Amino acid sequence: MIKYNLTCKCGEMFESWFLSSSEFDSLYKKKLIKCIYCDSSSVKKSIMTPNLSSKSNKITKKNSLEKNVKKQLIEFRKYIEKNCKNVGDNFSREARSIHYDKKTSKGIYGRATPEETSELLEEGIEVTTIPWVDKSEN
Ligand SMILES: [Zn+2]
Repeated sequence: MIKYNLTCKCGEMFESWFLSSSEFDSLYKKKLIKCIYCDSSSVKKSIMTPNLSSKSNKITKKNSLEKNVKKQLIEFRKYIEKNCKNVGDNFSREARSIHYDKKTSKGIYGRATPEETSELLEEGIEVTTIPWVDKSEN
């Protein structure tokens, strides 16, 4: 089944179902497709616009959701930068020294490879990986 939007010369627009586009063509040639409003056979197939509006709505929603997540990550990053010490590439060493030496320290942040991260986790050291978003982007 295929649905066509049909426009009549009277200006009305209506939808009609056909078995196939060739069925539509043959009915159309025989002038058997008639306007449901004025019974005229001067109807034209109009361009199909399948849910264009709802599709673009969805994209907009997705974009704004991504923006929100990013905004939150930027806030999170700002919070960490303000409250934690940046240890850069020494992250796993620093994390271990805090864990084993029971140093009272404020939180740290830095870079660690996925291997380092999983090693730390295996040793029972609590680490969290967060996506480090670029603040300069919008
Ligand atoms: Zn009509």
